[in-house]
Amino acid sequence: MKLRFLLPLLPLAAVLMVQMVGSHTSASEAPPPRKRSEVESVLKRAPKPAAETPLRPLHILLVAGPKDHGPGEHDYPGWQKQWAPLLAKADRVKVSTAFPWPQPEQWESADLVVFYLKTKWDAAQLADIKKLQDRGGGVVTIHWAIGCDQDWQSHAQRFGLSYKAASYRHGAVALKLTDPSHPIALGLPPTMAFVDEPYWPFIGDPSKVHVLGTSEEQIHRGDDRRANPGDDTVQSVPVFWTAEPADTKGRVFVTIFGHYTWTFNDPYFRLLLLRGMAWAAHDNPYRFDQLATEAIPLGD
Ligand SMILES: [Zn+2]
Repeated sequence: MKLRFLLPLLPLAAVLMVQMVGSHTSASEAPPPRKRSEVESVLKRAPKPAAETPLRPLHILLVAGPKDHGPGEHDYPGWQKQWAPLLAKADRVKVSTAFPWPQPEQWESADLVVFYLKTKWDAAQLADIKKLQDRGGGVVTIHWAIGCDQDWQSHAQRFGLSYKAASYRHGAVALKLTDPSHPIALGLPPTMAFVDEPYWPFIGDPSKVHVLGTSEEQIHRGDDRRANPGDDTVQSVPVFWTAEPADTKGRVFVTIFGHYTWTFNDPYFRLLLLRGMAWAAHDNPYRFDQLATEAIPLGD
């Protein structure tokens, strides 16, 4: 009797198990390495700087905060430890670090400040950013660094758009380039497979940002399972953007990817981030291209 009652439920249980295993796999399995030939052909498409052009000295400040996720995720301290020596390999670059927020004197000489952390973005922090932007300094935020806890409109003024911990999805993402001829994206494939985490929706005026790459997301079916799980509406959500706040001379580059540590060892992500950094610093976007494959195993 009991068995007869349970039998009809077996197919449902099987489907649920497959879904659980499926989502677990897509979220936690490292993507395969990029192919050497493909990466090399992307790098070859970057314009070569004129040999006689002297490189401008650049001071980059890397800001990280305490780790807030499991191993291999949101590893802000690990990133700072790896990226400080990585960037220092580039010619005429000085790298300094701050944890969890720069000292007043650190702001003064920085040309570019890169944030990978979770912070509140309170009024005093936004004032630091505004001061940097007023003198043309560049700002980059990685992944949860775009998350803000208060006054989202003011935050969006500094970074183009803002994010209040809302919807998100971990797993396989087909990133679509929306401006393939932009210097940051130049030469990259029109779509690229990643395993990371898009966010949505963003707060602010979308006309204030220049979106470089998007992901098609079922916006009511994120991992957060907010509103209308039966609604399969698909929307393009921004994953990479630039902004040039009209009230300053500063440039901003934002990457939503950066959840998993493996993404930082993906030459295509590295290229987008390194070029976004150089672009935000008002420098030649290809200045750090050679670091995109530094100590990264590539496939054949
Ligand atoms: Zn994340």
